[in-house]
Amino acid sequence: MMVTTHAVVGVAVTAPLLVVAPEFAPVAALAGFAGGVFPDLDLLVGTHRKTLHFPVVGWIVALPAVALATLAPSSATVAVAAFLVAGAVHAGMDAFGAGEEMRPWERTSTDAVYFHLRRRWFRARYWVPYDGSARDLGLTLVGALPGLVLFSGSVRLLCAAAVAVAVPYTLLRKRLPPYFERIV
Ligand SMILES: [Zn+2]
Repeated sequence: MMVTTHAVVGVAVTAPLLVVAPEFAPVAALAGFAGGVFPDLDLLVGTHRKTLHFPVVGWIVALPAVALATLAPSSATVAVAAFLVAGAVHAGMDAFGAGEEMRPWERTSTDAVYFHLRRRWFRARYWVPYDGSARDLGLTLVGALPGLVLFSGSVRLLCAAAVAVAVPYTLLRKRLPPYFERIV
């Protein structure tokens, strides 16, 4: 899935804070956005969907952080919890997309995301056929709604920027591999 999808979903998962602890909602949303983006930095360092993607271990770390933020709420504990939850959600969601490959619509690899505890890859489920597919764009648009409608300021701006990136990326996705190959 596109990093924009993960970013806006990272914001969306923090939306309940608007009801239970509105004073922490903006910082949580910003941290959620960052946590949604963070795992895909392993495109640049290490092995994509392995080095910074933790679909199971991510939750083992995130849940205690959520407990701590609940027991001792502060901007710092809430931000850390939101960041870790968004990162764990990101890694888990990648299992429902395509395999880790330059042209995922060709389906030559079913390696979706690495499961560090078992030292094997979760298989791609293809619910979202590939990053930048129409369904992926739909997820970005729906996922961005809480950020666009319920939040304001920089959270809303970031979600709008994610949509603004996702639309042309989707339109151009199948023409991009030669450029990716030059970068990677
Ligand atoms: Zn990812």
